[in-house]
Amino acid sequence: MTKYIPTIGIECHVQLSTKTKLFSEVDNDARLKEPNSCVSPVDYALPGMLPRLNKMAIRYSVRAGLALNSEINLESRFDRKHYFYPDLPKGYQITQMYHPIIGAGFVELPDGTKIRIEHAHLEEDAGKLSHEGTYSLVDLNRAGTPLVEIVSMPDIHSAAHARDYAKELWRVMTYAGVTFGDLYNGNMRFDVNTSVAPEGSTELGTRTEVKNLNSFRSVERAVEYEIKRQTKLLEKGEKVIQETRGWNDATGETTGQRTKEAAADYRYMPEPDIPPIRLKAEIVDEERANLPKMPKWYRMEFNDVLGSDLVEVLLDYRPLMEKLAELEDKKAVKKIANLFSSVLLAEENASLLNDELPSKEQLLGLVEMLDKNELSSTGGKEVFLKFFDPEMHFKDTRTIAKELGVVQENDLGALEQIVDSVLAKPETQQAQADFKAGQEKVIGFLVGQVMKESHGKANPSAVQDILRQKLGK
Ligand code: MN
Repeated sequence: MTKYIPTIGIECHVQLSTKTKLFSEVDNDARLKEPNSCVSPVDYALPGMLPRLNKMAIRYSVRAGLALNSEINLESRFDRKHYFYPDLPKGYQITQMYHPIIGAGFVELPDGTKIRIEHAHLEEDAGKLSHEGTYSLVDLNRAGTPLVEIVSMPDIHSAAHARDYAKELWRVMTYAGVTFGDLYNGNMRFDVNTSVAPEGSTELGTRTEVKNLNSFRSVERAVEYEIKRQTKLLEKGEKVIQETRGWNDATGETTGQRTKEAAADYRYMPEPDIPPIRLKAEIVDEERANLPKMPKWYRMEFNDVLGSDLVEVLLDYRPLMEKLAELEDKKAVKKIANLFSSVLLAEENASLLNDELPSKEQLLGLVEMLDKNELSSTGGKEVFLKFFDPEMHFKDTRTIAKELGVVQENDLGALEQIVDSVLAKPETQQAQADFKAGQEKVIGFLVGQVMKESHGKANPSAVQDILRQKLGK
């Protein structure tokens, strides 16, 4: 039986988190705003209004390009892409069809696979329609939001890699700080092109496009579904039709929507109201110098210490990674990373992820107390959680540990006194005799008695040492 090889290319629209829109001076973050409250005459296309390019959107595009390991084109231009739809009052979208700002680059997946980027261009978003039975409502809050559209080469050959690519793109863009990366609100939307061809074939098969996926899981499932559907068609001797298909998350299926129009339908023309962008090389150099640490940096730094599984989990939380990088000392990184994953990422503490993280000094203080056995691992967790109490933000670790009463007694003289008092008690005599007679397990009971006497503050391993010494074993 013929084996079919899938090929996938992904286009991703990333909403840039600039303060204002691409061509107007109104608020660009409409997530908590009333519909049509962040709209300027430019956005609803009042005749005679002229677009004015937002310089920060250019900066963000450069930064996004550098994060994609791309060449930055010092000269780029805008074009008009014409189509008619109620969410686009101008009748055209301003985009970069022929001279994009971001050139060829690549994204490296966690397993080292490189997915090439063909180019990425800057464009404006359209508005949003909500359909209400017999009529539809238009919200133009999103109209004019700057988007970077990242176009991959057809380098992906499995549903799992399609998901990994989408996820890595999300990480790279959020680490670069160019987007809020709020997937629920459509800050990143994936269009997935899938085709299958018989193994060994030099030509790609006919592709379909599934548009506007907004989760990594839906990217993976949509690709999986398309690979199966197309393979079945070809096995039956039928043809795949080139078309746009919609994704139904509830049924896990794609359905045909419309056959793909040719590019000529859009009547592209150069945008006459905005001059070409000519970037100074210094701007690119500046952005390169200020580019935050990328996921790859953290992998190279921490995979040896933490193992790649833990690193991949923590990479979903950029502030945690930045905090770990602050600690510098590898042993401290390991202890704190484990606390992050076991305490902070536990479901019951999920809300803490939105809070301010403990300071570097607090965390290093915690590591030191753990290392010196002044805190048990349970006590360490208690102190760690207490760091998130707003009243504790300025307190040092030792003070917090003392207030919680979890500092372990390590003073051997003091411990010896407690041990002596326990050994003098009538109720421990039998256990002492049993232990001396070779019943090793009884030591646990004696340690327990000492712990009780110390109100839980004794260091159990030190107690055990002293007990063995005293009982001559
Ligand atoms: Mn686009």
